[in-house]
Amino acid sequence: MKTIFEEHEPGRRTSYLPERRVDLEKYLPASSLRQDLPLPELAEIQVVRHFTELSHRNHGVDSGFYPLGSCTMKYNPKINEDTARFAGFAALHPYQAEETVQGALQLMWELQGDLQEITGMDAVSLQPAAGAHGELTGILMIRAYHRARGDMGRTQVIVPDSAHGTNPATAAMAGFEVVHVPSDDRGGVDLDALRQVVSEKTAALMLTNPNTLGLFDERISEIAATVHGAGGLLYYDGANLNAVLGRSRPGDMGFDVVHLNLHKTFSTPHGGGGPGSGPVGVKVALRDFLPMPVIARRDDGSYGLDYDIAQSIGQMRSFYGNFGMLVRAYTYIHSLGGDGLRGVADDAVLNANYLLARLKAAFQFPFERIPKHEFVIAPPKDLKRSTGVRTLDIAKRLLDFGVHPPTVYFPLIVDEAMMLEPTETETRETLDAFSDILLGILKEAYAEPDVVKTAPHHASVGRLDEAKAVREPKLRQTIGG
Ligand SMILES: *Cc1c(COP(=O)(O)O)cnc(C)c1O
Repeated sequence: MKTIFEEHEPGRRTSYLPERRVDLEKYLPASSLRQDLPLPELAEIQVVRHFTELSHRNHGVDSGFYPLGSCTMKYNPKINEDTARFAGFAALHPYQAEETVQGALQLMWELQGDLQEITGMDAVSLQPAAGAHGELTGILMIRAYHRARGDMGRTQVIVPDSAHGTNPATAAMAGFEVVHVPSDDRGGVDLDALRQVVSEKTAALMLTNPNTLGLFDERISEIAATVHGAGGLLYYDGANLNAVLGRSRPGDMGFDVVHLNLHKTFSTPHGGGGPGSGPVGVKVALRDFLPMPVIARRDDGSYGLDYDIAQSIGQMRSFYGNFGMLVRAYTYIHSLGGDGLRGVADDAVLNANYLLARLKAAFQFPFERIPKHEFVIAPPKDLKRSTGVRTLDIAKRLLDFGVHPPTVYFPLIVDEAMMLEPTETETRETLDAFSDILLGILKEAYAEPDVVKTAPHHASVGRLDEAKAVREPKLRQTIGG
């Protein structure tokens, strides 16, 4: 199909603008005026078709299977969108007086309570705008906690080698030294190694449980006791809580601070740089350090914004968080209810294990354990040796079948890793179809490796030179160019 720049036809218009009656030259300096802006001239339908065609090039969870491990690309129920569009929510202004936004404040206050109950924490802030932002908020609170106690020597944050990259990045941004702790042969934290690195310098351990291998750390109580015994705190990366929702709670595992990704676990849309939401929950000992304002319920039953928090780490974001996301998450939680949320976890784990069972014989599965909501596999060892085909090639070949590839080369501790998270919202038929495609590609990789190595063949662009695409992005089209 021709691009709109090729369809350009001088004189063709879709313009509803009145004729210009102002003499610009009279009011603007010549340096602010330009004649050299050749925009394509088109009919409205051509423009509409152009943008519709572009939108079809995107792969989204509404268009196909999206097993991107650790990212939880699950279906976002459309009822969330309906409620977020209610004029009473969508048309609010952040500077409105409190008494005119009681409904919105009530929703936030109730959502805080829901998230407290779900995580086993004592207080929640809805302010952070993403998971990584929640991490920074939580770690700054941990820093403030130690300082308020006069405990100034806690300069280290311990992070396992299976951690999401944002964990060490967050600790470093907050001014801490990052200390890595290796995984043991069951894929959990190596407890002996942890005992070696905890000390009076330990501010916190940041942990995901189940971790990025999808494995639940069975020794979490001993891990918590080890860190607490040294005076450190436990930080829970709860970006992907769908593995344990309604089944276990970070607060009961011994964690002091947790962040959640509403845009993963609680089905608010994400990807493409859209607004996210990363609420943070804390145990009572850290409550006084919450970012302000805090949503409060007053004695007369009304709701308000509290700025009077003596030891608050300050405001982490303008206004009160990404409110539209909060409405969606609230809708999700309340439309499912407690039993429904437990069903989310059960189905997420069941789907992951079903998919694994279909793939396990053909791929390497480095940690022989029952995973939770996601799992990590790798192609057979001899594949790379005998054919040169790598995980990246398999990922690219999946695009030819209309499937989004899994997360690849992460976590770093598994060579040629493929991390799959089917999520709870996919049907058994989709999981069967996907496993057939993946097993087919593996067969093809041995029989016709070049087909796989040069994939994708049916996508809107072929294989890009990723380094070059970053350094010399082609972001502009011009008429005739
Ligand atoms: C996605 C994710 C994050 C970061 O969340 P963002 O909203 O992308 O900042 C942190 N930890 C884990 C385990 C994640 O999966």
